[in-house]
Amino acid sequence: MGILAFGLFACASGQPVETAPLPATEAAQVTPPEPATTESLLATLSVSPTTLPIISEPPAPLSQYTINATLDYDAHFLTVEEQITYFNNSGVSIPDVVLLVEPNRYQGAFHLQSISWKDGADITNYTLEGPVLRIPLEAALPPGGRLDVNLSFESNLPAQEAPYGYTERQSNLGDWYPFIPPYNSAGWLIREFSGQGEHLAYESADFLVNFRLANTNTASGQPLIIAASAMPETAGETQQYHLEAARSFALSISPQFLVQETLVGEVTVKSYTFPFHAAADEPALQETGKALAAFSEIFGPYPHQSLSVVEADFLNGMEYDGLIFLSHAFYEFYTGDQKSNLTIISAHEVAHQWWYGLVGNDQANEPWLDEALSTYSELLFYEQVYPQLTSWWRENRIDFHEPQGWVDSTIYEFGPQGFYPYRDAVYLRGAMFLGDLRQTMGDEAFLAFLRDYLQQFAHRQATGEDFFSLLAKHSTADLSGITDAYFANR
Ligand SMILES: [Zn+2]
Repeated sequence: MGILAFGLFACASGQPVETAPLPATEAAQVTPPEPATTESLLATLSVSPTTLPIISEPPAPLSQYTINATLDYDAHFLTVEEQITYFNNSGVSIPDVVLLVEPNRYQGAFHLQSISWKDGADITNYTLEGPVLRIPLEAALPPGGRLDVNLSFESNLPAQEAPYGYTERQSNLGDWYPFIPPYNSAGWLIREFSGQGEHLAYESADFLVNFRLANTNTASGQPLIIAASAMPETAGETQQYHLEAARSFALSISPQFLVQETLVGEVTVKSYTFPFHAAADEPALQETGKALAAFSEIFGPYPHQSLSVVEADFLNGMEYDGLIFLSHAFYEFYTGDQKSNLTIISAHEVAHQWWYGLVGNDQANEPWLDEALSTYSELLFYEQVYPQLTSWWRENRIDFHEPQGWVDSTIYEFGPQGFYPYRDAVYLRGAMFLGDLRQTMGDEAFLAFLRDYLQQFAHRQATGEDFFSLLAKHSTADLSGITDAYFANR
């Protein structure tokens, strides 16, 4: 993610709204979106039918996170036991173990109660400094080696409008448990927090989460509703979830959620909204479902069995595997048609299921790899689902901002107030770069490249070098003029 809700484009500055707002719906079950037809995509992309890629299997076995958590909603207090089974899939020996503990960025908010090896022996020689928990090893962990770490901890959620924290109407659990980041020949992939964008990188892992509410109602008696990265497999006090080959597992809890549901193929799409702007609720579900169908056809199958789209009590969109947040502002400023941030950002966050969820990257130093692709995917969505609006998308999403800056900027280059310059360089110029690339290569080669990129790097980490090395295999055109125009370091 990282998309601020306000001032994104011209509809906020007086573009006429051509259609009346859709009627509000209270239906719990909504009609499934029209399936996108192969003809519409092929007509748009001018390519002959191509077999969809088989997404490569993850390196087996993946690391596993088993998390038993209890949330006291009114106290904003989490009690967690976590078992990590880690497999060294890096290909090199690892000298120590690092866990990233994002909740420990907040003063006094994280209390590690115990940490031990699988045999129960306490780990006493660890250090915990800010978000980095480091455990020295007596002997390096060889490639393919396994480690088991057990933790128990408590967290006080911070009061903040963010993907991790609580507000008056919602508690959000994004990046809420310690996890082991990717390791490569340069060491652990750990990046500093920045005011802009995301700084974390993740390996694909399997999750088993048992989640319990200390009280199923709020103190004032309202039942609590849980949105999660997967659908619960058990009814009752403890909700059990499985999510496989994913970068993360997120939840959002609120007593105010209205829930709607639809099916896209075999994927359950659930929407969770606040009861303030009913006209936008069903469109949020429908656009999410249409984006899921479109990208499954363009890129390759969606890898999970469900997708939750959650109205966020903060000003951003944000992606996690199986769960996307859309700011309440997108609902509030829904125009009644697809010329809306609600539509654009639904498509954007759904696209991250491929460009973030499947293909991982260093989001801090190479944010363009997931953000430029997700922004350009918005156009692919419009081409397939609302082809009459592609010019509108380009004019309002890109041209209106007259974007400047290098696509290969990091999240650290723009200062604390620099979201718009960051977005312009990485997201918008990134999408322009991909558009120029497509024009030069031709639709067929461009699509074949995207699918191959997905196939090669699904469940792995891709770098800019990987991107361009693979690109060279799909195009004999001289691309130096394009890369010179958009990249500072190519
Ligand atoms: Zn994004």
